Order: sequence, then structure tokens, then C-alpha cells
Amino acid sequence: MGKAHEALKGKLTLISTQASEHFKSRLSSKTYMTNTNCWVTIPENSDFSIYNIPFGIFSDSNDTKRVAVAIGEHLIDLSKAAELEIFNSLDFNTSVFTNEFLNPFIDLGKETTNAIRKLIQQELQNDASVLKGNDAVIIAQKDAQMHMPVFIRDYTDFYSSIEHATNVGTMFRDPEKALMPNWKHLPVGYHGRASSITVSGHDVHRPMGQTMPPSAENPIYGASKRVDFELEMGFIIGKNTSLGDTISTSNAEDYIFGKVILNDWSARDVQKWEYVPLGPFLAKSFASHISPWIVTMEALEPFKVAGPDQDPKVLPYLNYAGDKNYDIKLEVSIQPENANETIVSESNFKYMYWNMAQQLTHHTMNGCNINIGDMMASGTISGKSKDSYGSMLEITWGGKNPISLNNGLERKFIEDNDTVIMRGYSQKGDIRVGFGEVRAKILPAKQ
Ligand code: CA
Repeated sequence: MGKAHEALKGKLTLISTQASEHFKSRLSSKTYMTNTNCWVTIPENSDFSIYNIPFGIFSDSNDTKRVAVAIGEHLIDLSKAAELEIFNSLDFNTSVFTNEFLNPFIDLGKETTNAIRKLIQQELQNDASVLKGNDAVIIAQKDAQMHMPVFIRDYTDFYSSIEHATNVGTMFRDPEKALMPNWKHLPVGYHGRASSITVSGHDVHRPMGQTMPPSAENPIYGASKRVDFELEMGFIIGKNTSLGDTISTSNAEDYIFGKVILNDWSARDVQKWEYVPLGPFLAKSFASHISPWIVTMEALEPFKVAGPDQDPKVLPYLNYAGDKNYDIKLEVSIQPENANETIVSESNFKYMYWNMAQQLTHHTMNGCNINIGDMMASGTISGKSKDSYGSMLEITWGGKNPISLNNGLERKFIEDNDTVIMRGYSQKGDIRVGFGEVRAKILPAKQ
């Protein structure tokens, strides 16, 4: 590690110095990095600005899965870009770009993946770049198929929004004791199912399940009548630990590669009957969808904000310093078949009570190892007001208060052939970094 590490560091410093000299001379009267300096046209309010450069896996007509970054309405095929030798100044094997998952790319380490991201930003602002005008490298996103960005070996879902936990506790248990006694002392979570996490655009059938109808004496088997979304964000692990290792809140960010939006589908009638005493099981494992582009923590750095006060004080191992929440605006729409979409929730990732550093620290406190590609999810992200609730369970208060959609329609939960769309972005001045969307349709149950 030592010498190779130092050599790489030296190279990267040299590159960044050369690059900054180059840009100083070329952009003397301009700001260092702006969308208008980019030779790919970036529409106003694009999530995929020059500041973002998120990573994903795509295929096009030739069907091989490759690594890409998004820019505006296009993507850059990094395997093709590598053939043009733009990465020759960096010391890594470009075969990581011809892979069905990002895991080997992420395994290069942040120093290299960040250098790759910066190099692409520089190429995009260099009018003499070999990438410019090359149709084999710059591909319209509409002509590409996005795939699962990472192989997720393990998936953990936290429950870290105090508003969501309070709302659910009020409905499922006791309004007086909505939060369980442990809730403010540790980030509650459970080990979810990784195999059924899929990427935006893959429709899913309404699940069958066992439920106990309100006035019945015996449970029944049938299609869930209360399919719901959960508005969440997931973070993708960027560095392995060994069994027995722990992570502290001060170095947790080194282990996080980036973030996606997650729809953690939930069958509420199944959940209510099955969750005692071990928590969610089949009500959650039938499907979860993620957005296809992983936005790096470096791209999200400008949007860090302070989290809510934690009272009572947490145990010392969960203490943290600095801003660890992120201002990411989130919205959920429902689009019934042959109808317009209606926004049903506008929330924000900054509401989270427990931050990612605390979640990861808690997760590894017992020596549990984590692996590149693992996903840790936030739990439903609800705000204080009804229009910021992150699930239909909360928005309609258990189905008691249906909501009106466009076209004169009403919803308590998600009906067959409804599409649920989640979007998210951060903005500060002219700098916008977004996630695109995660969308999926609920098809009728397979009886
Ligand atoms: Ca969840």
C-alpha cells in the first residue's frame, strides 16, 4: 500500500496541478466550473450538471453492460472513453469499466474514483477533448437501458425519521407511547432482503400475502389490499471492513461511496399481521426499487447541513462532530394508468434524526463486517406536515383520509397499474445535483 499509495498520490497531485494551471490559463475570466463551460448541453434544472457526475451501469444496442457517468440528457461510456486513453495519467485497470456492476470500480478506492470523476469534469470543459463529438462515447440517455448499479450483497433498512416512527407507532400501537423506549438511544434497523432490490423501470406485481382482516377471527390468504410506497434514500458502501472491525462517526464517510433514492414497497395489511415480534418480513421483501445513478458523497458535500437536536444525549460512541445531514429535496408522485401524475409528498433528507455516520457506526459496533455495494437505507423520510409524509399510510392516516389526485381520482393506497415516481435533488445557488428518478408500476397480483 505505502509506496504505491504515495506514487498514486504524487500522480494525482501532479494531474490536479496541471489541470488547474490549464484551466486558469484557458478560463482566466470565467468561474472555474460552470455548466455553460461544458460542451455537452445541460438543460436548465438538469439533475446531471457538471457538478454531479454520478456513476451507473448501462447497456445499449450492443447489450454489454458498462460503466457510465450522466451529464445533462446524455451519458458517457467510460469503457469507450478509456479506449481513447483519457485515463492514462491515472494508475488503474480500465477493465473495471466493462463490468455488470460498479463494485470493482468502487473497489479502486475513493482517491482513484474521485480523480476519475474530476478528470471527466475537466474533459467536459475542454473544447479540445477527444470525447467531444464522439457518438460512440457520448450517448443519449433515452437510447440507453439502465441496470442495477451495484451488486448488493447485504441490505439494511433503518427507521431513522422521528416523524415517521411517531406516526407509525401512533397508528399501529399507542399514541401515548408511539416511540419505543430504545428509539432515541439507537438507530433502529433490520436486515432486509437484497435479492429483490431492483432498478427503476422494472414493474412489479402486487404481492400475495397472509393478513388478518379487522373483524375476522382467522387470517386469510390473498392479494395485499394495502400496497404502499416508502420514500427513502439508500447509501452504498464504498470500502470493506473485516469481521471484528468497527467504524467511528468521524471516519464513517470514508466508507460511503454515494447515494440513491429508494422506494421500499410495503404491504401494510401483511405488515400489520406479521411484524410481531421480529419485524418486517414478506410485507417488504417482495420488491424495492432504486434510482440508477449513484451520486457520490463528494458531489453532495456542498449540501451538508446540521441535523436536529438529539435529546436525550446519545451514548458517547454515537456522538459526532460537524454537519452530517444533507439538504436533499424529495418528492413522490402517483400516476394512475392513462392519467397525469400528482405529487403526493414533498419531503427532505435533512429531516433525518439519525445521520448516516451514526447508522454506520452503530451497525459495525459489534464487529459486523460491511462490503462494497452493501446498501443501508434511511427508513421512510417524513417531515412534520402532512404534505411531507413519506408513505400513503401516513398521508391517508391508515386509509381513513383518502387523497384526491388529478383527473378526479382518489387514493388510499396504491392501486393496480399505478406508477409511483420519486425524485430528488439538492440546490445551492446555481449548483444543482440531482438523482433523476425511481419509478415503478404495480401490476395486478399473480393469483
Ligand atoms: Ca422502510
